[in-house]
Amino acid sequence: MTDFGPVMPAFAELADGVRRIVAPNPSMMTGPGTNTYLIGKSEIAVIDPGPLLTDHIADIRDKAGGDIRWILATHSHPDHSPGVARLAELTGADVLGMPAPNGEHQDKSFHPTRVLSDGDILETDEFVIQAIHTPGHASNHLCYRHAATNWIMTGDHVIDGATVVIDPPDGNMTHYLESLQKLKALRPAALLPGHGARIDDPDAAIDWIIQHRLEREEKVLAAVKENPHLTTRELVPYVYQDVPEKLFAWAERSLQAHLIKLEADLSTTMETGRWKII
Ligand SMILES: [Zn+2]
Repeated sequence: MTDFGPVMPAFAELADGVRRIVAPNPSMMTGPGTNTYLIGKSEIAVIDPGPLLTDHIADIRDKAGGDIRWILATHSHPDHSPGVARLAELTGADVLGMPAPNGEHQDKSFHPTRVLSDGDILETDEFVIQAIHTPGHASNHLCYRHAATNWIMTGDHVIDGATVVIDPPDGNMTHYLESLQKLKALRPAALLPGHGARIDDPDAAIDWIIQHRLEREEKVLAAVKENPHLTTRELVPYVYQDVPEKLFAWAERSLQAHLIKLEADLSTTMETGRWKII
């Protein structure tokens, strides 16, 4: 996850009433950092305040230049939502999103005051935002469509210049591919990802991800066929020759997601932790 192109400015106005602040949490998994979006000018919705970083929370309030009335989270992973509770406490804003599911790698401090469902709308005097449920990377993942620009804030569903980890059981490869098709069918004009720069050709970006995942699936099938009775961990080097070994632990999670999908598709099965072709 290192190919994020040129370094991004920490603050940018992307369109009238659409601004982006990059949280100072750059890493191999977060690229330049988590993108926080500010929608509106006098009454503002903040999308993904990111991790709980005092300076970043202060920066969001500083740059807002108006009342922060709503805080929306795309999902409850540790690099997206832990700043929500603190920002809500400081501003009195409503918190919108889907509650964190049980399990690892979840921000348990995330508690929406308004639980969103697919298609729900936040309508204000200045803007309209629509929630789109996009499970796959996370079961409670929402993308947000900004009506005036027809841009979609995609969180970790689609990021710029890299693929995301699908980490079962909360991550689900079948749902992920379905949610990509769902996003594409909405014909967005651009995507504003949770990490990296604006994506101006959504169709090409989404098609690339789907193609990449299906090619990986082919590799998984071939690897299980040629090397039956291996565990998921033992299969990693056969499927991820292009991935540096230090990322194998994450690759194993996505490989597990592929194998679960193939099992649901009746192509593979597992006995005592070892995979084989049906
Ligand atoms: Zn995530």
